[in-house]
Amino acid sequence: MNRIYLHTGANLGDRAANLQQANDWIGLEIGAIARASRVYHTKAWGITDQPDFLNQALLVLSPLGPFEVLEKIQQIERRMGRVREVKWGERIIDIDILFFNDEVLETDALTIPHPYLHYRNFVLMPLVEIAPKLVHPVFKKTITELSAASEDSLTVGVFRG
Ligand code: ATP
Ligand code: CA
Ligand code: CA
Repeated sequence: MNRIYLHTGANLGDRAANLQQANDWIGLEIGAIARASRVYHTKAWGITDQPDFLNQALLVLSPLGPFEVLEKIQQIERRMGRVREVKWGERIIDIDILFFNDEVLETDALTIPHPYLHYRNFVLMPLVEIAPKLVHPVFKKTITELSAASEDSLTVGVFRG
């Protein structure tokens, strides 16, 4: 089984329900969710003039390869009503692949590990909860170390509904 870390985000509609809906589809179509972080709340990163986000990190065990997983997450995003919009813009659901085992991949369609994960507290905070000792295969640092070194100033907190 492949050990795949996914990150989900939503800032439109019923955000918590959207994350849950995505988890349900991921469990059915990609593989069992072995670990899930709590849901975190944050102001938008990058393009800041949009609603706040909820985010979650997941560890999924799956027989699928990286491009199959990419296809599945894009299907799930479309099925949930996500329309292709501006990069970093507002969305019903966003599902990104953070890590795929310890593989390093750089193609036009897919970069693994996710190229921005170490710049984003909204990714690092949920990830450190479920994988503090996971080693980034390029930087050779743990998530705890990357999190401590993050220069992102955005505050990320546990979402309490
Ligand atoms: P970001 O990738 O910076 O978080 P985004 O999630 O807003 O931005 P999208 O519009 O959702 O970007 O995706 C743009 C493209 O990124 C996708 O069509 C996909 O082919 C590509 N992509 C590259 N690497 C990854 C990855 N690790 N996980 C998900 N998509 C990826
Ligand atoms: Ca994203
Ligand atoms: Ca994405």
